[in-house]
Amino acid sequence: MPDPTLDDITSFFTPDRPVSVLVLRLDRLHPVISGNKWFKLKHNLEAVMEAGFKQVITFGGAYSNHLVATAAAAKACGLSSLGIVRGFHGQAQPTATLRTCADLGMRLHFISREQYALKDAPSFLSALGTSFGGYIIPEGGDNDLGRAGAMEIAAFIPAMTTHVCLPVGTGTTFTGLRNALPATICMTGFPALQDTSLADHISGHAMPARNVNWQLEPRFHFGGFAKTTPELIGFIRSFYIATNIPLDIVYTGKMMFGVAQLIRENAFPDQAQIVCIHTGGLQGNPEGLFDRTPGS
Ligand SMILES: *Cc1c(COP(=O)(O)O)cnc(C)c1O
Repeated sequence: MPDPTLDDITSFFTPDRPVSVLVLRLDRLHPVISGNKWFKLKHNLEAVMEAGFKQVITFGGAYSNHLVATAAAAKACGLSSLGIVRGFHGQAQPTATLRTCADLGMRLHFISREQYALKDAPSFLSALGTSFGGYIIPEGGDNDLGRAGAMEIAAFIPAMTTHVCLPVGTGTTFTGLRNALPATICMTGFPALQDTSLADHISGHAMPARNVNWQLEPRFHFGGFAKTTPELIGFIRSFYIATNIPLDIVYTGKMMFGVAQLIRENAFPDQAQIVCIHTGGLQGNPEGLFDRTPGS
């Protein structure tokens, strides 16, 4: 895959504050295996092949970027894939995400939300492995190999960076990056959901020497996972018109909205060199989000 570019979006925020803002465009690495997902999957897929498995099993909801990325990456590696999907609504009415998964050859197995809650329970996982056969990657690639892959994103962060901002789902990408970046770089995560256990989950996997100089900014989940407001949609559209960078409504739109507000609140010191990570996720956007219809 090509190296991601860094786009300078300082002019979107100035003249508010004397800070510089770059976006690391992980969304441009691959049309389907977009953003942070490739980094979290790569070492997991190596492990699958080294162990001689022919199938990857993983978990996600009906809009999951991780499911699509896994389907595409497994296909590229010559592996078959099985997606365990949360809830039955996607079976009756497949979302665009689930149709893409199926088109990429992923078999889909729908389970109830109650059963899905067991997705990390050893007994449930061994039963799954027995009935379907394959290597199980946790939801969101949230394991040691996922974090190890996310560490590699640090190589694309310029040395003079003082602050890194990124959206947070499981915290896998955030933790990997925290472990790889110098402790002097301040990291802010923008959770896309209300989850009070996230900070503990990150601390629990951060190396002691790097478990410093980071925080989660809880104000920008917009009511919960994949929830939006007209204000958020309006922001995503105006950001696109000004910068030509598409954001997604679940993760990166909320992060960038939060960064804009923090800049207005003077939360960053003068001369801060901020890098925002575009973690991808555009496949899940509603159709027409960036259409410039008259009057909108
Ligand atoms: C999956 C995803 C995230 C969340 O990553 P975690 O490692 O689970 O925190 C963030 N942004 C986008 C676009 C994603 O698809």
